[in-house]
Amino acid sequence: MPSTICVSCRGERSAALVRPKTSEPYCKICFFQAFEREIHETIVKEQLFKPGETIAIAASGGKDSTVLAYVLKLLNERHSYGLNLVLLSIDEGITGYRDDSLETVKRNQQQYDLPLIILTYKELYGWSMDEIVKAVGRKNNCTFCGVFRRQALDRGAMKLSVNKIATGHNADDIAETILMNILRGDIARLKRCTSIITGDESDDNEVSVIPRCKPLKYAYEKEIVLYAFYKRLDYFSTECIYSPNAYRGNIRTYIKDLERLRPSSIIDIIHSGEQLIVKPTTKLPVQRICERCSYCSSMPICKACLLIEGLNKGIPKLGIGKTERYRKEMQQKQDQCCNDQSLCHCMKEKLTVTEQN
Ligand code: SF4
Repeated sequence: MPSTICVSCRGERSAALVRPKTSEPYCKICFFQAFEREIHETIVKEQLFKPGETIAIAASGGKDSTVLAYVLKLLNERHSYGLNLVLLSIDEGITGYRDDSLETVKRNQQQYDLPLIILTYKELYGWSMDEIVKAVGRKNNCTFCGVFRRQALDRGAMKLSVNKIATGHNADDIAETILMNILRGDIARLKRCTSIITGDESDDNEVSVIPRCKPLKYAYEKEIVLYAFYKRLDYFSTECIYSPNAYRGNIRTYIKDLERLRPSSIIDIIHSGEQLIVKPTTKLPVQRICERCSYCSSMPICKACLLIEGLNKGIPKLGIGKTERYRKEMQQKQDQCCNDQSLCHCMKEKLTVTEQN
């Protein structure tokens, strides 16, 4: 860029970049300060943390969670938040993607001197994503992955006895989710997705999950990339090999186009989403406890248990879309199975139990 003075230190230093959020020229030092100050202000204004709390940072090795871990550690020390920070990673079992990104997380653990715990889908659910994709194909894989990850983070957080999970969701992610929920008419998620803290006692639509917060809620993705770049942070930037999420991809492109025309579009969408009030007469799913695993669910059996059941019974579409049809199919298979005792799994299980007794 041509030599321009930094708008923040007013000529003390030359500008090195144009801030994507404001389109103003900044030198590197003033940009770092502004970026960190805004995250600190979000943390303080929204009361994200309390002194003495243990916070699990959901770490994937990507730019968002790497910047989150770096900045939270920095601000925790600079402003004496009094937090115990730990890194929590989920290994979905995606060869050529997650194994590499976890190597980055392990290096971050050394660089930031934070404890790290890694949980795998394989040990939690008996299936890795590679195996799931083999069974279900490339169409619905992200549904499995998203549902399993949400639960896996909670399980990891419970294992670590943390008070909250901090995730690296940035302003672009939140604007995308708001638009996606509007376009899908998903009112329950629309109500939740703008909250900076979800799953705590103030959110009456959730039941006993570890509260999650998004300290980067107002940080633009482009600024996170710039920050990581100029700070020379060690992060992993390859896309998941199973990432065809076309619907979100279209919305992402749309938001990037809007940002090009008017940078404030991202924040404007978030502010608009925050002002939406759901009519009290609107029916929202009632949260309860899954009969199988005790995780919160709007159905008697949670989505993760349903998906696992489908995978284990060779009906991977159970839990996706037309669940009822597949439930009936499953019932039919079970009836057939019980009519042919040489094949019957239920009978074999009964015999094994009897033999053991
Ligand atoms: Fe999982 Fe899909 Fe994301 Fe890959 S793109 S990590 S499969 S949710």
